[in-house]
Amino acid sequence: MKYLSFLLLFILPYSCNQKTTTIKDRPINEDGSHTTEDVRNMNRWSMQTGKKPKNIVLMIGDGMGITQITAGMYANKNKLYLEKFPVIGLHKCYASNKLVTDSAAGATAFACGVKTYNGAIGVNPDTVAVKTILEEAEQKGLATGLIATSTIVHATPASFIAHVKQRKMYEDIAADFLKTDIELFIGGGKKYFDRRKDGKNLYKALQSKGYAVSDYFQSDFTKLTPSYNQNFVYFTADDDPLPVAQGRDYLVPASDFAVDFLDQKAGEDGFFLMIEGSQIDWGGHANKSDYIVSEMIDFDRAIGAVLDFAEQDGETLVIVTADHETGGFAIQPGSTMDSLVTAFTSDYHTADLIPVFAYGPGAELFGGIYENTAIYNKMRAAYGWE
Ligand SMILES: [Zn+2]
Repeated sequence: MKYLSFLLLFILPYSCNQKTTTIKDRPINEDGSHTTEDVRNMNRWSMQTGKKPKNIVLMIGDGMGITQITAGMYANKNKLYLEKFPVIGLHKCYASNKLVTDSAAGATAFACGVKTYNGAIGVNPDTVAVKTILEEAEQKGLATGLIATSTIVHATPASFIAHVKQRKMYEDIAADFLKTDIELFIGGGKKYFDRRKDGKNLYKALQSKGYAVSDYFQSDFTKLTPSYNQNFVYFTADDDPLPVAQGRDYLVPASDFAVDFLDQKAGEDGFFLMIEGSQIDWGGHANKSDYIVSEMIDFDRAIGAVLDFAEQDGETLVIVTADHETGGFAIQPGSTMDSLVTAFTSDYHTADLIPVFAYGPGAELFGGIYENTAIYNKMRAAYGWE
């Protein structure tokens, strides 16, 4: 690898013409997000092409680049539910301070529409809190939910509901869950709610607030009989949930349940739900392709469950994307569909363009190449929010 980059250093200047191009100025916000003019155009477009969605489900495969998807597809007999999506785009995932983003800046871009620094949860580069799309949905009377296969206070879900300057502030993030009226959340990290350094018991506080709260210790997820009259919380682990290959089995049933539950709760107002396949990223960090593939397939099955609902419902926009790629994952020569030979360039994230898949009313907004922050603007435009 070192030898190759050394070689390239010498070859490149001689093999490329030293051409420079100037890019014309065009209206774009300093943070890279679209201007209000763009959003207005999107609104107009959305109205021209048809219906607005009542519900949006944003599904984030953490660390899910093109190769993660490809490997999952081949390992799954050359088939994924992702293939059902009619509209595909690409987003530019870089953070405000680094070309290679982390999940905190990546999810904050989707949740708040701002480019921010790595580690930031729901705050801008000056550490000022920015209202998230989930909080705005709550204010507008929509039902909201978060599901993750990490702890629920981990960077991706946290960025939709919390505002802290550093992603590791897990107890502060947990406390922020009490500040909205989110209807449903499912994920690990029970200890950040009921065994906290400040002695507060947020598990009980959620119950006093009217939530039906349960956890892996009380009952298996699939054995619960939730009431639609109460908001719903389920902790799937004390800390990180297991990898799916070691027995974690809740992502698909939880996704299936959540769309139905939120639909019932929402009535005519609609809902916003974020579902994260968190551990595709962890497979990338560990440079383990089996880990990536099993998590990718599990996430794809959750996508299938949500698509089933969306197909029947007809008023639900489903968006699937990732915050970044992890591992510099590649499928090498010598691979067959049944047996992939893989390689990694890194045990961290990379700066690749990231695919965006969209299905349902408003899906047409998601074609093309745009900033990660544009996903926030496009979701708001799809809802028809001014
Ligand atoms: Zn990561």
